[in-house]
Amino acid sequence: MYIRSLKKFIEYFGEGRKLKLLMFLFMSIVAGCFEFLGVALIYPFVILIISPEQIHSVQKLSNLPFFGSLSPVGIALFVGFCALTLFIIKNLYMIFFLYVQSKFIQNWTRDINNKFVQFYLYAPYKQMLKSSNSQKMYVITTLSAQATGGFLMRVMSFVTNFVIVVLVLSLILWKFPVAGVVSLVFITVCVIGINILFKKKVKNLGLKLQKLSRQMNDVNFVTINNIKDIKIFCCENVFYDKYRNCGNVLSRENSSQTFYGGIPPYYIETLIVITLLLLGGVIAVQNMGQSSVMVASFAMIVASIFRLAPALNRIQSALLNLPVGLNFVNDLLKRFEDFGLADFKPVRYQNIEPMSFANKIELRDIEFSYVPDTPVLKGISFDIDKNDFVGIIGLSGAGKSTLADILTGLMLPDSGKILVDGTELNAENVCRFRKNIGYVQQELNVLEKSFRENIAWGVPEGEIDDNRVKYLVDQVQLSDVVNSYDEGIYAIPFVGESGLSRGQKQRLAIARALYRNPDILIFDEATSALDVKVEHDITNMLLHVCKDKTIIAIAHRLSTLRACNKLVYLKDGRLVDTGSFEYLSAKYPEFAELVKLSSLSN
Ligand code: ADP
Repeated sequence: MYIRSLKKFIEYFGEGRKLKLLMFLFMSIVAGCFEFLGVALIYPFVILIISPEQIHSVQKLSNLPFFGSLSPVGIALFVGFCALTLFIIKNLYMIFFLYVQSKFIQNWTRDINNKFVQFYLYAPYKQMLKSSNSQKMYVITTLSAQATGGFLMRVMSFVTNFVIVVLVLSLILWKFPVAGVVSLVFITVCVIGINILFKKKVKNLGLKLQKLSRQMNDVNFVTINNIKDIKIFCCENVFYDKYRNCGNVLSRENSSQTFYGGIPPYYIETLIVITLLLLGGVIAVQNMGQSSVMVASFAMIVASIFRLAPALNRIQSALLNLPVGLNFVNDLLKRFEDFGLADFKPVRYQNIEPMSFANKIELRDIEFSYVPDTPVLKGISFDIDKNDFVGIIGLSGAGKSTLADILTGLMLPDSGKILVDGTELNAENVCRFRKNIGYVQQELNVLEKSFRENIAWGVPEGEIDDNRVKYLVDQVQLSDVVNSYDEGIYAIPFVGESGLSRGQKQRLAIARALYRNPDILIFDEATSALDVKVEHDITNMLLHVCKDKTIIAIAHRLSTLRACNKLVYLKDGRLVDTGSFEYLSAKYPEFAELVKLSSLSN
């Protein structure tokens, strides 16, 4: 199961990293070799220190040209020096290895996040609607880090330490075969035993933690994004209790994980002491009467155990925590598959020219559905002439916003055509069409930035045209507000979203939509009422500022409906009729009723 997920993970996200992974394997083997050599040198060092006459047992050394000129003690000191040097080099190497590994993991997390964020930004908007904003945040703040740090890093730690354990154990086996086999069997049985004992518990814990992190993410997102609504509805208690309860459960499960993760060192410590005694006992029995060999063997065994203990600890901790990480990995893999990320290639548009619009937009038999077999727009056909002021009207759920999103070029229809001056919109050219559109949303998402950055939305700071910003501030009649600040358009007038009135925010939204001087303006009128005078002023301002533009409004206010030269009347996703306000009012009694119901001022 682990191998399958790991293979998939590397296949999906490992582009350009396979060689590095092999390099890590190689580096792990080198680390193991360092440990092996460091421990191996202890034996001749101790023997030569205790009884120099034992030089014959390390005869090969004294036969070498350099060693021939040294006394046995000199050779012993040299071997000791080599062991120490190796030990220092090994530790420096391990520090470097850790640094490279951490960097590798961090970069990998960053690249996974880039992949998802790129998808969120560049993929067709309709696909984006499949996952909520909170889920999107969860992927890039929690999931990818858990999958890499919680799983991959542990797999790498497992491999490195496994190599160390195998090499050090093979040294013990080579030097003390009987004692080695006894210890090996003992260690293997104990490590497997504890894993079997904890496996189910830890796996369940992993699943719970994964579910809880998602829930916590949702609760955080909903709470922080809705503070105003929560207060208005006086439901602070409900949200706070939900937040607190979720946090309590999560912290309880997290502390369980920390607890289980903290057990291995103690277990391994006990295991190691028993192994030491086992090895010592067998060696003592085997080397009765040879005190120097016995002491050297003990020294080597102690050194081996000293190296084995931390490595076994890390293996044990990796094994216990891998099931937790695996759940996150599988979740990430599933999202990768659901989003079709394997085939996704972002198209980065650069300096594209807006599609010109001189004449007419034609909608022909537009059909659209969010979910298969549930059409939301059915056979919609009508024309929009240059400089029209078109109002889309219909009951809630009639399909107005969906039609506006299609007219914005955010989503392409499932069938039917949109022709702009005779050119059919498609996936390739729709971006150019969007460049010629300004969009005024219902509630402006005001940035905690200056007026100029709020108006020139999405334009790099250094490229903002201040003259255009000032011109628009004047046009949308925000000059008084802006001039009340010493810094003018450079002022940050509000903390959060509370510093501007709703009417001022709407004016700011119109200035933002007009900054790029588009030919078409889509106006998603706020459903909530503004002051009657403010509404009239805004409609008049819009008509004045946009006299050479084509405006398409999801209209709710009577003042806007009356100002439109053409209304598109929708019912249950179908077009009932198009025409002037007077024409529709006279022909459809329920239209007049609808206007009464939906218009917010008169
Ligand atoms: P209106 O703007 O007239 O209130 P909408 O265009 O928002 O209507 O919605 C039309 C229909 O499409 C509704 O039945 C709504 O439930 C459905 N709908 C809107 N957005 C989505 C979505 N993201 N996923 C699935 N169905 C949706």
